[in-house]
Amino acid sequence: MTYPFKPKELPYAYDALHPYLSEEILHFHHDKHYVTYVNKLNEIIKNYPNLQNMTLEELLTKCEKIPSEARTSIKNNAGGVYNHELYFDCMNSTDCELPTDKLALAINASFGSIEQFKAELEAAAINQFGSGYAWLILSENRLEIIATPNQDTPIAPTVTPLLCIDVWEHAYYLQYQNRRPDYVKNWFNLINWCYVGARYMSLAKEQ
Ligand code: MN
Repeated sequence: MTYPFKPKELPYAYDALHPYLSEEILHFHHDKHYVTYVNKLNEIIKNYPNLQNMTLEELLTKCEKIPSEARTSIKNNAGGVYNHELYFDCMNSTDCELPTDKLALAINASFGSIEQFKAELEAAAINQFGSGYAWLILSENRLEIIATPNQDTPIAPTVTPLLCIDVWEHAYYLQYQNRRPDYVKNWFNLINWCYVGARYMSLAKEQ
């Protein structure tokens, strides 16, 4: 997909994440925060015909093609689009509550156990200072957990994000107020491991 970017629909009903995330949060988060990033990105790219055939991923990984005066605003807004789309896509499954198959094996090999993986991702999300995200990424075919500030995204030619949690206050404040740890702990119940597993299978090289 290239300019003009269109907001993706939420891939489930607004009340589908109840009781862990309220319908009200999802309306604000998807319809206002996320859609605003899409609109702002389009407003910027409108002025740069040379960038209008670039995909979101290209805008985030080929910054040498972006005029220097637009680099920061494109990084922030294309990141805001990419990060939110992954965040929403990674949630909601009652069928896929745990990693399975090759992703489960890879998580065990990388972190020791699913429990240890959860503990490390939880710590990264809770300890991210201020706004940002915590991620499970595939970096040169290895699983890693990282955190990033603001709308920075880890996507790079050799790095693909598999899963992320948004820890901006807008992601949880209406329901959890200042209790980010409660939000993070509950979010683990929402991970769509079918989606994350399919993403991993499409990217991981055979060892
Ligand atoms: Mn957000």
